[in-house]
Amino acid sequence: MSRTTPSRRPLDTIVVGAGFAGLYMLHRLRGLGLEAQVLEAGTDIGGTWFWNRYPGARCDIESLEYSYSFDDALQQEWRWTERYASQPEILKYIHHVAERYDLRRSIRLSTRVVSAHYDAAANLWSVTTEHGDTLRARFCIMATGCLSNAKLPEIAGLADFEGQRYHTGLWPTAPVDFSGMRVGVIGTGSSGIQVIPVVAEQARELVVFQRTPGYSLPSRNEPLDPEDERATKQRYAQMRKQARESVAGVAGYPVPTQSAFAVDPAERDAIYETHWNAGRTSIGRVFDDLLVDAKANDTAADFVRAKIRAQVHDPRTAAALMPRDPIGTKRVCLDSGYYQAYNRPNVRLVDLRATPIEHVTPRGIRLRDGEEVALDALIFATGYDAMTGALNAIDIRGTEGIALKDEWAAGPRTLLGLMSAGFPNLFFITGPGSPSVLSNVIVCIEQHVDWIADCLAWMRERGNVRIEATRDAQDAWVAHVNEVAAATLFPVANSWYMGANVPGKARVFMPYVGGVGPYRKKCDAVAAAGYEGFAMASS
Ligand code: NAP
Repeated sequence: MSRTTPSRRPLDTIVVGAGFAGLYMLHRLRGLGLEAQVLEAGTDIGGTWFWNRYPGARCDIESLEYSYSFDDALQQEWRWTERYASQPEILKYIHHVAERYDLRRSIRLSTRVVSAHYDAAANLWSVTTEHGDTLRARFCIMATGCLSNAKLPEIAGLADFEGQRYHTGLWPTAPVDFSGMRVGVIGTGSSGIQVIPVVAEQARELVVFQRTPGYSLPSRNEPLDPEDERATKQRYAQMRKQARESVAGVAGYPVPTQSAFAVDPAERDAIYETHWNAGRTSIGRVFDDLLVDAKANDTAADFVRAKIRAQVHDPRTAAALMPRDPIGTKRVCLDSGYYQAYNRPNVRLVDLRATPIEHVTPRGIRLRDGEEVALDALIFATGYDAMTGALNAIDIRGTEGIALKDEWAAGPRTLLGLMSAGFPNLFFITGPGSPSVLSNVIVCIEQHVDWIADCLAWMRERGNVRIEATRDAQDAWVAHVNEVAAATLFPVANSWYMGANVPGKARVFMPYVGGVGPYRKKCDAVAAAGYEGFAMASS
């Protein structure tokens, strides 16, 4: 292909990203007989599970649920070894899926997309890669992930550090050995709490720099019992249906029906204890007012705080680890030995609220109190420019050259998280305004991919070649997304859901909090009504 001129014949579809979303999208497009090209920035497929290969990386949704459901033969035949799958095992699964459905031949690796421009006259998207190639297609589908734009902290002197540095979300493919090293970890979210106990076992010294303590529950991960696996697989169809209709995309989670104050304190604590012992994050969903009433939330938060205190020997460290946000308003973590790591003699916690970082030096980190913490390596577990970061990193231009970044300057605006007005034939998989990150994301990925594929088939049957979200329908959806979020405690926390971790980013609650099941019903109703709220055209 020419490096400067567009490919001659336009494709039906371009899919950006070869993670769980891009791979299933490709499979569905092939099934429709549509020609698709997947473009992937990484040197291999896997998306999140390609990039996040840091020590300890593991899914916090059970493996039998965090997997594709679209093919019963696949889900029956694949064998997971652990209750919560590790990153290498999930990547192996993804590779298996790609081989099984012969997906690789339509995927171009090491190809970062830099721009996607809509040509209204031709009704085509022109997608340009980092190598200067331009491909054209009728439809462009962004499978770029919600947590794929890794973010470094804004700390003075970062570039001066002469030791090794790593971001959990951009981990090198070659294994890293921290034996004998003095290692610093910045960040104590889901990635930090996973990497810390593993690096603690290797490193000579580990210093954790914590800004905001979070809630973490023991995962109680264990080898998958073959009997349990067999029993689960027997009722897979029912379980998947339950997950699709649930709030969080997970089967078997309690549907709360009563207030935390409907039971007496002893009974309440006994209920929390059961959930604490279950090795799941269900504790935050036991009562129906936990995410809407601060006092109710406190009952669960206090329970978990007491559990954290009991695990950490040093009272000062335990006090610094006490979370203060309402539980559940930031993602609750599942860990394997996180708090116990602080009981090791080689691990120290620096509470940045009490002693902030002054700046990074060539040899370590200087704290505001004058101490210089000497370090050989720094691990940034500092998260992502979530939900909009990967999209805004591409120069996306719609009708009359409008930039998606500008349209979304005050917060993302979508219809159902699937499309944005002014950007015809451009779809987002798990885009902002859909449940995505508040759920078992594979369930939401499959739902969006199926919705998009069905929509393309519907259009083809009727000779439609253009679909676009209307502004009125989009405004109504954005208002609804904001309204349901405002009725919860979610906006209270400075979370990445709110864009609060990125200086200058609009403070808007980005995912849809109305639940996976109810959301699916709305999407299905829109499709059944002939894609109500979307404008279609046949030329
Ligand atoms: P994260 O939740 O955004 O956590 C980032 C951490 O870095 C926070 O503790 C944050 O503190 C800290 N931080 C950021 N900038 C800082 C600065 N300038 N100085 C000091 N500390 C700073 O990111 P993550 O842990 O990578 O997780 C992101 C999401 O990915 C999760 O919520 C989850 O959805 C997903 N994930 C899932 C798994 C899993 O399945 N087990 C594993 C990893 C990630 P503040 O809170 O103060 O901002």
